[in-house]
Amino acid sequence: MSIYREWGVEPIINVSGSVTRLGGAPMPEAVLDAFRSAAADAVPLDELQGAASRVIAETTGAEAGIVTSGAAAALTLGAAAILAGFNLGRMERLPHTEDFPHEFVVAREHRNGYDHAVRAAGARFVEVGFQEIVAGAGVRRAEAWEYEAEFGPKTAGVLHVYDVHAAPPLAELVRVAHARGLPVLVDAAGELPPRSNLKAIIATGADLVAFSGGKAIRGPQATGILCGRRDLIGSALLQMLDMDDHFELWEPPAHLIDKTKLPGMPRHGIGRALKVSKEQIAALLTALKLFTSGAYDRELTGMETMLKQIAAALSSSPVCSNLIPGDGQTYPLLELTLTGKSNAFDVCRALRRGKPPVQVGHLRLAQGVLMINPLLLNEERARALIGRLREEIT
Ligand SMILES: *Cc1c(COP(=O)(O)O)cnc(C)c1O
Repeated sequence: MSIYREWGVEPIINVSGSVTRLGGAPMPEAVLDAFRSAAADAVPLDELQGAASRVIAETTGAEAGIVTSGAAAALTLGAAAILAGFNLGRMERLPHTEDFPHEFVVAREHRNGYDHAVRAAGARFVEVGFQEIVAGAGVRRAEAWEYEAEFGPKTAGVLHVYDVHAAPPLAELVRVAHARGLPVLVDAAGELPPRSNLKAIIATGADLVAFSGGKAIRGPQATGILCGRRDLIGSALLQMLDMDDHFELWEPPAHLIDKTKLPGMPRHGIGRALKVSKEQIAALLTALKLFTSGAYDRELTGMETMLKQIAAALSSSPVCSNLIPGDGQTYPLLELTLTGKSNAFDVCRALRRGKPPVQVGHLRLAQGVLMINPLLLNEERARALIGRLREEIT
């Protein structure tokens, strides 16, 4: 019996993957155990984040890192750190940034809904490049010189949304930005796996990198990681921690925050609304260890077998199945292309409304394709899923 029925909410079969809208990835037992164990004791949050920083630094190759309440929160904190540094007056004024450098240069093709998190800190975007390929009006992508041409006295930093095929390549962008003393903030929320990205993105020289903790890492859904330059991480931490203490008694982690250089204690910063609990930190660090050890790879073969069973069970339905194998770290996926008269949106809607409700990957519905991601499947759910797909794909 699902606990959600206690409040009249029916659990669904999620074959859409670790999407936030549907509650994210499943947490392994060890992560849930860590959450429970962490709840048993009280610890100072700043000291715990200081310890988390050492683990994240070792895992990513960055100088420092903190656990945030998601990658989006990491972007807000990262932008706040770039905007304010250790200037307590600026921290207090965020998100109002008119009287100090506050522009972030970003390629038009990198703009996306999650960049609201950067703007929320007080950053204002200056866009460069075009969407010529999308517009069918050209062949070129954003180029490094276009950023350079926009750098000026109001520029605070650069935002890059990571992808291996991103243009310009991150390393080139970092070179151009650093030549002008500007930091680069990277949104790499969904860029795991491959595990190598934990180190590779920082290795480009990027100043701050944001990862989701609730996607492939399988930590609590509302966790993330911000890693990068020690001074910026210190500023981000200062703007997230609860500051209700006496300056004389306050002992922030010295490797992140040099108290002797501060004129006093900041008030609660813009990141205070993005607080992270001790349980979330313990659970995320436990999940990170599992993820980096390759423990999740062992589940991939079983996932592929389940997808093959689903494809086989639909052999007499008006659907064309295509199994996309994983690469040893990524999940295999099953593409179901509707071959009959039914419209993919109608099938998707019927699947959502039926019993049990099913939510398939909807990225390619317009092309008549339902995507099946096995991350949250087990034998029982796979059986129920087959029944529902057979009912609705007719
Ligand atoms: C998922 C995602 C985010 C948000 O991550 P959360 O951990 O859910 O806050 C930000 N940017 C991109 C590109 C994402 O895919």
